[in-house]
Amino acid sequence: MIISMKRHATRQEIEHVCERIRDFGYKVHSIEGEERVVIGVVGVGDVTDCLESLEATPGVEKAVRISAPYKFVSREFKPGRSAIKVNSLEIGGGEFVVIAGPCSVESEKQIMETAEGVAQAGAKMLRGGAFKPRTSPYDFQGLELEGLKLLRKAKEATGLDIITEIMSDRDVDLVAEYADCMQVGARNMQNFALLKSLGSCGRPVMLKRGMSSTIKELLMSAEYVVAHGNPNVILCERGIRTFETATRNTCDISAIPVLNELTHLPVILDPSHATGKRSLVPALTRAGVAIGADGVIVEVHPCPEKAVSDGAQSLTLQGFREMMRDLEPYLRLWRESRVELRAHDHVHA
Ligand code: PEP
Ligand code: MN
Repeated sequence: MIISMKRHATRQEIEHVCERIRDFGYKVHSIEGEERVVIGVVGVGDVTDCLESLEATPGVEKAVRISAPYKFVSREFKPGRSAIKVNSLEIGGGEFVVIAGPCSVESEKQIMETAEGVAQAGAKMLRGGAFKPRTSPYDFQGLELEGLKLLRKAKEATGLDIITEIMSDRDVDLVAEYADCMQVGARNMQNFALLKSLGSCGRPVMLKRGMSSTIKELLMSAEYVVAHGNPNVILCERGIRTFETATRNTCDISAIPVLNELTHLPVILDPSHATGKRSLVPALTRAGVAIGADGVIVEVHPCPEKAVSDGAQSLTLQGFREMMRDLEPYLRLWRESRVELRAHDHVHA
């Protein structure tokens, strides 16, 4: 259930409503908007009885039962959009955020060259896997701690924040020491032990959609992280499995506006894994800008033919620079439409 308080509900009224909710055996999670307080009610109990009682309680504007199984991530719980902070950067705010870097961290030279190149071209965060989920156990598994240390070096040299993948709940503390944002890969979207432990990691989480997961399942996984104490979740569409073989995955571009209707969380697009082909990445990135994504995460490698993973979908540094240059007119439109969107959200909040 979600209880929306009246615009000028008093503190006592809010407290009283919270007490009533607890009397019914539920837990209370409130969020303070600029103009009103919204209270999330979780737990098991007699929903109808509780709803009727709360609707009659002073200060309550509306009490609604949520049919969707997710609550905290829903737009009903929080109208408008959440901007998630990664240090001084905001995802879901007034700027389209481009995250770039190699699939895997391979060597000092590789990561430093990439970091410097993408930073100069306008990327705001550096990606790079130190723990790699590979289909084959014989493929490169990542440099692990050594890779994390190289990412830190690249951060020190360029000022770029770091996003890197976390594969196991055992490694959360270690990765959180080096990462500014924790990436949960498609293969781990439903690793519930991991999702729970990310609730208390103290870092924002970027959750990638599983390759055979529905949008609802993606939101349920985000709900895990939020329900366990971490509201800072960014969603990522990275393509899903279909019968099509022309691309590595099928980019479910409509997932972005669908998610924007269902959730207040920011949504970014991964055009690299969505297509598997370098030549398609700029077009998909433009599609992401046009359709209202909050950013993209793109694979870039100084020498893709030598990449130990995902070379075919990695842009060269030159290719990345060109993509960024060609994106500028689209980004201007994005910024204009974002100002309008935010004004609209504000009116309807
Ligand atoms: C990656 O980002 O390199 C990766 C493994 O992506 P995904 O989890 O989307 O397959
Ligand atoms: Mn990859």
